[in-house]
Amino acid sequence: MTRRRELRILPDPPCFADPNRWAAGGDDPELKALCRNCPRRWLCAKEAVETPGAQGMWSGIHIPKVGRGRAFALRQLRSLAAHGGYVIRDSA
Ligand code: SF4
Repeated sequence: MTRRRELRILPDPPCFADPNRWAAGGDDPELKALCRNCPRRWLCAKEAVETPGAQGMWSGIHIPKVGRGRAFALRQLRSLAAHGGYVIRDSA
């Protein structure tokens, strides 16, 4: 089975049902747990790193709007994406 086919059969992630909660992000353990069990987690990490201005909860990691915490979160997400086998574009 190819990755493309795998992605087509993935169920909707929990954030689709409550996007405002994920956009707010923060240090919510329930939100993080839902992301950690999400079948899209690795792809989500890639999308977070490649999405300009991404903030809030992505892949179980809160991305602050600015500052050192933002840079740290994006490094964590880059590692998660790589762990899942996704390549991040260098320009991101
Ligand atoms: S890992 Fe990404 S796609 Fe899955 S619930 Fe979290 S934010 Fe949504």
